[in-house]
Amino acid sequence: ENKKDIIIIGGGPIGIACALECKKRGWSYIVIEKGALTNSLFNYPKNMTFFSTSEKLEIDGIPFISNKPKPNRDEALEYYRRVVTSNKLDINLYETVTKIDKNENDFTVLTTKGNYSGKHVIISTGFYDIPKLLHVPGEDLPKVTHYYKEAHNYALQNVVVVGASNSAVDAALEIYRKGGHVTMVVRGESIGERVKYWVRPDIVNRIEEGSISAYFNSEITAIKPETVVIKTPENTVNLPNDYVVALTGYLPNFKMLEANGIALSKDKRIPIYNPETMETNVKGLYLAGVICGGEETHKWFIENSRIHAKLIAEHIEKQLK
Ligand code: FAD
Repeated sequence: ENKKDIIIIGGGPIGIACALECKKRGWSYIVIEKGALTNSLFNYPKNMTFFSTSEKLEIDGIPFISNKPKPNRDEALEYYRRVVTSNKLDINLYETVTKIDKNENDFTVLTTKGNYSGKHVIISTGFYDIPKLLHVPGEDLPKVTHYYKEAHNYALQNVVVVGASNSAVDAALEIYRKGGHVTMVVRGESIGERVKYWVRPDIVNRIEEGSISAYFNSEITAIKPETVVIKTPENTVNLPNDYVVALTGYLPNFKMLEANGIALSKDKRIPIYNPETMETNVKGLYLAGVICGGEETHKWFIENSRIHAKLIAEHIEKQLK
């Protein structure tokens, strides 16, 4: 039966939180997820540790027990997986939503596997699928990645890490500690202001002592099979290079939002929604989770967006009364 009260697009932490709210209220719902369960977290660096303590990542008050105050990726996978299995949530995996059509009284959601109709649709697709590209020649070479997984393959290699935010800094430090020769290429004049306060001194000191090289106010202008070309304030550098790890951020799927009539602000392309209900300018179409930030992907995270699930459910509940 493909007729549902609610269709939730995206099986990340916030999509799962929405599913819990629907289940509690006895609504029929389905979560449609294009990859593995919590696919973004699954694709995070293998050894990442969350900056949030585990209780702040909990959904619906279900306890998240971790060994240390801040959980790691495996513990988070374990947590959200157990929330889904023990609550028997309805989630279709490896199924991508390709289109949402608004009808007079409901929506038709088209996927790679079929069609669904729903009275309400929640888009909770996050922002981890579309990397911000460097747009330089050679970016498509196999030695270039926009996702960092682990350091071992970079041992004894010349690695350029592009960016200076949390992801870039974590990768640079880990690769350096596993024997890679790391050069950071940073567009701004310093390591990012939002880098975790307990990590910042580590990277600043490694750069100062020369263990990790860094070019500030600089940009990669080309990637070649054996070198990268870096434009610095002084000159152009040709650096011998084996790998480029470009961690310059990710963007939500704006095309999907626009195709469904969701208005975006001119500045930073922030989708328009009512913050009290999470309903967009399209009636019955809601946003939940980190997708709400538009280009400002640092604004929302699990900690402060898990509340969206309740706001949406309460709004839908009111309409049913
Ligand atoms: P996501 O988890 O990104 O879920 C979206 C899901 O939608 C994905 O599984 C995706 O595959 C799916 N999807 C996308 N398009 C489609 C489609 N067309 N059809 C079907 N499915 C689709 N937040 C914190 O609160 N604390 C932290 O410590 C923290 N650490 C982080 C560390 C890193 C390295 C990163 C990148 C983020 C971190 N965040 C943290 C932010 C937060 O964890 C993530 O952004 C979180 O995953 C957001 O949850 P979400 O459910 O909104 O989106």
